[in-house]
Amino acid sequence: MTVYSGPVFEMAVNQFGVIADHLAIPADERDRLLMPKRAIVVSCPIHRDDGTIAVYEGYRVQHHLTLGPTKGGTRFASSVDLGEVAALAIWMSWKCALVGLPYGGAKGGIAVDPAAISKRELEALSRRYMQEMIPFVGPHTDVMAPDMGTNEQVMAWFMDTYSMYQGRTVTEIVTGKPVASGGTLGRREATGRGVAHLAKRVLKELAIDLNGATAVIQGFGNVGSYAALELHRFGLKIIAVSDHTGALYNKAGLDIPALMRHTAEHGSIKGFSSEMQYDPADIFTTACDVLVPAAMERAIDGPMAEKLQCRVLAEGANGPTTPEADLVLEKRQDEIFLIPDILCNSGGVVVSYFEWVQDLQQLFWEEEEVMRREYQILDRAFDQMVMRAKLDRIPHRTAAMAIGVEKVRAAKNTRGLFP
Ligand code: NAD
Repeated sequence: MTVYSGPVFEMAVNQFGVIADHLAIPADERDRLLMPKRAIVVSCPIHRDDGTIAVYEGYRVQHHLTLGPTKGGTRFASSVDLGEVAALAIWMSWKCALVGLPYGGAKGGIAVDPAAISKRELEALSRRYMQEMIPFVGPHTDVMAPDMGTNEQVMAWFMDTYSMYQGRTVTEIVTGKPVASGGTLGRREATGRGVAHLAKRVLKELAIDLNGATAVIQGFGNVGSYAALELHRFGLKIIAVSDHTGALYNKAGLDIPALMRHTAEHGSIKGFSSEMQYDPADIFTTACDVLVPAAMERAIDGPMAEKLQCRVLAEGANGPTTPEADLVLEKRQDEIFLIPDILCNSGGVVVSYFEWVQDLQQLFWEEEEVMRREYQILDRAFDQMVMRAKLDRIPHRTAAMAIGVEKVRAAKNTRGLFP
């Protein structure tokens, strides 16, 4: 038992155990690699609109500081707890190392349903959270970014709050900001574009014609909607989409640009069409070429993995597939091509890194430059993962994580143990 214990943390621990066994990492090195360096828990009091005071619990976990500052999103959701945040921070570490960024992983969040509070309350809570975190973050210590339930506006409030305390504008304290406040072109779209880019690569390798190929997406937020838009642009039909309010299905393909306009206006896919209503429980079992889980972790468990009917599983979300489901996927004869989360959704942190670099240098790039460099990094990591999986005869997730863990381990071992 640790303070982090819980189902999501256990998942990160189990996955690490598989990698550590594969890499034959000695027992006495394992905790040093796995256990988070720091965990911060804060109380964030705010005035509610009705005049009462409410206190929300906020978290930040910094996994390791070996390669540079820590980097990771901030999640606002009722389900957030310390264990979930710690697991997400650990995954961020393997992800950053896999794609070669000079960061350790971090993650943070507040246990709050952002839809249940007003915009003024959300601003107050965002600012108070950042203010509580000031002693523990910094452009060379820990750099935040958006995640579930947060967005560019929240990042702008974070940046403004930090800057007010410093007495100068410090855009490099967070990434995923609006372009008008020091953000980079292409960050909003980066994660979804990366998911779609890698899915396209796999479809080509499997000799599946992009035109008329089908995709199904769970979650229509930042990641899901831009992945859908890009796949739609490549010629795929997005036949089903779901979010927390329900699901939609259209055999001929949904009108994704229209659905994005609808969600921008109404906040969800609800009310888009009454004829296309679909049972959200069927989203993962719908036959398709590309399945993109882009909502919660642990969405695909063992029994669900038996029923998947896709050719490519492109993990837009973090941790959407449980270790039990991984075992099922490994045994299935029909071989679903898995693009594991730490690679598949890494376009987000890659472009966050570009944003940080641009802010530090005050030299801004064209969107084409951002995209070209993003795809270059994703393609290199994809090639390394596929080669490693073939060489070691291991699943893609094990290969991707092994590359990440190995890099962190090498850095720790060459730096040595202080004092
Ligand atoms: P978001 O808040 O923008 O969107 C989340 C979406 O999931 C919403 O459409 C919501 O309605 C939907 N959803 C929530 N619960 C659901 C349920 N039970 N069934 C179906 N849909 C549900 O969040 P996001 O930024 O798109 O993040 C989604 C996932 O991608 C998370 O796992 C996050 O950690 C991961 N991720 C995000 C980024 C990024 O750049 N935003 C980068 C890497 C990974």
